[in-house]
Amino acid sequence: MLMRPDLRTQQRDFLLGITRAITAQLDQSEVLRRVLHASLAMLAGRVGIVALTDRADGKLVIRAYSGINADVVPQLNHLLHELMSARDDDGFSREYLNAKLQEMADAIDKRLEQSIAMPLVFAGNPLGLLIVFRSYHTAITPEDLSALQSFADQAAIAVNNAQLYGEIAHERKRLAAILNSSGDGVFTMSPDLRFLQVNAAFERMTGWRNAEAIDRHKSEIINWARLDSPDIEQALEAGWAATDARDDQRESLYVEGDLIRRDSSELSIGITYAPLRSAEGRLVSIIGNVRDITNFRKAQEMQSLFISTVHHELRTPIAIIKGYASTLGRNDVEWDYDTVRNYVAIIEEETDRLTALVEDLLTASKIQATRELQLNIADTDLHAVAAQSVARLESGVSQVIVLSFPEDFPVIQGDAARLRQVIDNLLTNAIKYSPAKSTITVGGRYSRTTVTVFVRDEGPGIASDQLERIFERFYRIDDRLTRRTQGTGLGLYLARAIVQTHGGDISVKSAVGSGSTFYFSLPRG
Ligand code: ADP
Repeated sequence: MLMRPDLRTQQRDFLLGITRAITAQLDQSEVLRRVLHASLAMLAGRVGIVALTDRADGKLVIRAYSGINADVVPQLNHLLHELMSARDDDGFSREYLNAKLQEMADAIDKRLEQSIAMPLVFAGNPLGLLIVFRSYHTAITPEDLSALQSFADQAAIAVNNAQLYGEIAHERKRLAAILNSSGDGVFTMSPDLRFLQVNAAFERMTGWRNAEAIDRHKSEIINWARLDSPDIEQALEAGWAATDARDDQRESLYVEGDLIRRDSSELSIGITYAPLRSAEGRLVSIIGNVRDITNFRKAQEMQSLFISTVHHELRTPIAIIKGYASTLGRNDVEWDYDTVRNYVAIIEEETDRLTALVEDLLTASKIQATRELQLNIADTDLHAVAAQSVARLESGVSQVIVLSFPEDFPVIQGDAARLRQVIDNLLTNAIKYSPAKSTITVGGRYSRTTVTVFVRDEGPGIASDQLERIFERFYRIDDRLTRRTQGTGLGLYLARAIVQTHGGDISVKSAVGSGSTFYFSLPRG
């Protein structure tokens, strides 16, 4: 048992111990354990409880205990709850508190004789209650009480610190989780451009992991293959973020270009830098937001490709039509019937080309906007459709076109007009891109579930890295043959969209020097 003359010295030591706990420990459960340990030793108690006020509902809940079986804890929590419910603006009466403490003591162990409860209060906010039960009874002097209270105050500071630290740690984790789930790269760097932290998206974009990036200079990680405007180094030199301006929105700096990643590949990105200032307005760090703008760049390229294609492809037939029409319209010449017929036929042909081109452009932009294509489904005989295409296109071409369909080629459900467009396109390409006198085969085969139509040519073939790209909107292979040939790069894109809308698939087998075969398959059902 604690001897009275030693009490002060003991108290001082414990107070010191608790102060140490405050400075050394930020883990809440460890702080509570130490507070409990110190108060039990100080009061020679047998049972100790620290109950803290829950921030969400204001209830007192036991957070640490000693000398109690875990199974009585719910009952004690219930008694504490009753105690708190009886509280009014003046707190609760001492009798009520004593009665509840007695009930708690009885629930724990009938042999407990005395209980001492000390409120844990920090800056006027009740944090909780510290309760010690003893198995004997001694009088407590006002000096003892005041020492106990100052002990409880120290304990409250420690608890409060630990709680704040816990909240900060939680907040930091939450922030890290948000940053790491962000699709944009985020980093912070010091004013001398050394990385302090980067998130997961930044790691993916640059190839530099957070641990490796920390403390490295920006120039080691962010290098440009192409840069559209001056980067932050030049901006800093020119006085960016040097003033006391607090309007960070206006101060942000945007740069865009092609980043050379760690593995030497390139990525189009845009970085927005924003200064982070101290309360006095001093630049403390720089926050960067990195956005992958590959898709944006692609869209831009697509747009300029579109404009140049439309420009070129529309201009040619319009110029031809204009030329023949104004020739025919001359007053100073009498045109013979055959010439007139010939010129009118050319004008008609070019008008058809224009119509088809406009139709293709409209269909392509509709697919792009709505991602779907309307189909008029009916019984469709692809053998007959292919035969008509061949008949229409073979006149005047220098190649030999062979039809190769089995007699019993099945009729399927499909949009005949759209599927004709597909076959026409594959056949036109075969004609455009293969040499005179070579053979082009348009054929079909079928299985239990699908029908397949193919168009084979003996042209120059297509390099393997182009096999997928030729189906992209406006894509044309950049070679001499294609440059010599008219086209929009829309044919295969539309063909794929039509076939896929039918639930089918289109593909190509080709190798440079050995011709190309385009296949499309549709379900029979
Ligand atoms: P285009 O209007 O240019 O013909 P397509 O979408 O039909 O557009 O074809 C895209 C590109 O694929 C063409 O520009 C051409 O470079 C290539 N291509 C298509 N078909 C063939 C073929 N049969 N042989 C070789 N290259 C082809």
